[in-house]
Amino acid sequence: MMDYRSHASFDGHEEVVFVNDGRLGFSAIIALHSTALGPAGGGCRIWRYGKDEEALTDALRLSRGMTYKNAMAELPMGGGKGVIYRMGVDRAACMERFGEAVEQLGGRYVTAEDVGATVDDMRSIARRTSYVAGLPKEDGRAGGDPSPWTSLGVFLSIQALLDGSLRDRTIAVQGAGAVGFGLCKLLAAEGARLIVADVNAANAERATSLGAALAPVDQIHRVKADVFSPNALGAGLNARTIPEIASPIVCGAANNQLETEEDGARLVARGVVYAPDYVVNAGGIINVSAEYLGESEAQVDARVRAIPRRLLRVLETARAEGMAPHQAADRIVRDRIAAAGRA
Ligand code: NAD
Repeated sequence: MMDYRSHASFDGHEEVVFVNDGRLGFSAIIALHSTALGPAGGGCRIWRYGKDEEALTDALRLSRGMTYKNAMAELPMGGGKGVIYRMGVDRAACMERFGEAVEQLGGRYVTAEDVGATVDDMRSIARRTSYVAGLPKEDGRAGGDPSPWTSLGVFLSIQALLDGSLRDRTIAVQGAGAVGFGLCKLLAAEGARLIVADVNAANAERATSLGAALAPVDQIHRVKADVFSPNALGAGLNARTIPEIASPIVCGAANNQLETEEDGARLVARGVVYAPDYVVNAGGIINVSAEYLGESEAQVDARVRAIPRRLLRVLETARAEGMAPHQAADRIVRDRIAAAGRA
């Protein structure tokens, strides 16, 4: 067992569970950051790390991130994360073992898919516990692919930041994958002009069917547009790219867009309005949580449509209090959790 309380990424996590099964060749960590607002919700990542220690770092950091994302989305959920860092040959048995560990937490942690996990894995987990989402959707109920909801939340946020109208506005889209392409479709339908870059030529190409122009991958942030929308990987906003960003607004779905804490201040110094990633990309987790909470698609739609209002409040708080938007978002979340603690 690793000592997590003295780990650099430890942030008062409520509990960290280590699962090791030598017979199966299986090792996992479940980190519960906070259950102040409800069961700790957050997916299960399946990844090979150079060192076991890195799996713990991921579990601690990602579970904390889920607390913030879920609280900002006003979901009755706390934050947690599963990380499987050793997978035996009998994958189904390993996932069932993970399900047993989730079950033992008695509902304090609810799992779902994350990087590396599949719907089949969730089916295996579901044989051992009911505290799992990410299963195929049933009629009228929430569930299934979360990315269209993520696209919708980002689209509505961009629309709000441009005062409602997208006609003839230019959006530079980095990454036209599940979320980015869905976003392009919504933007194109409202008359926006698209400039798209993707390392995957086929994904970039399909955006041209929407009338998008293509830009080189290393130039997309330098394109003069009304909004730069990162929908690829994280850490795209950094000391190298921020001085070159040519749009006054950054708003996209990619997780962990700021490479470091200082990058939020760098954007402010350049006069670029940054829509904090976890505020605008919550559509996916809203859909996954709704599946667990037994909510309808109409309820998911209402929760996603509340994202722009939250974003504008975050930006207003940042302006009023002279902070970077990501700091204002964190502050609003901490206040919400403290208020729940008092109640
Ligand atoms: P995806 O894998 O379907 O799409 C990512 C796209 O980015 C791919 O087309 C890939 O080729 C492209 N890409 C990778 N590196 C690039 C680069 N350097 N420049 C340009 N393009 C690049 O993933 P997704 O589900 O669309 O998720 C996109 C981002 O949004 C990720 O950061 C993800 O963590 C985040 N996110 C996704 C969801 C969701 O519901 N899927 C929810 C919240 C956040």
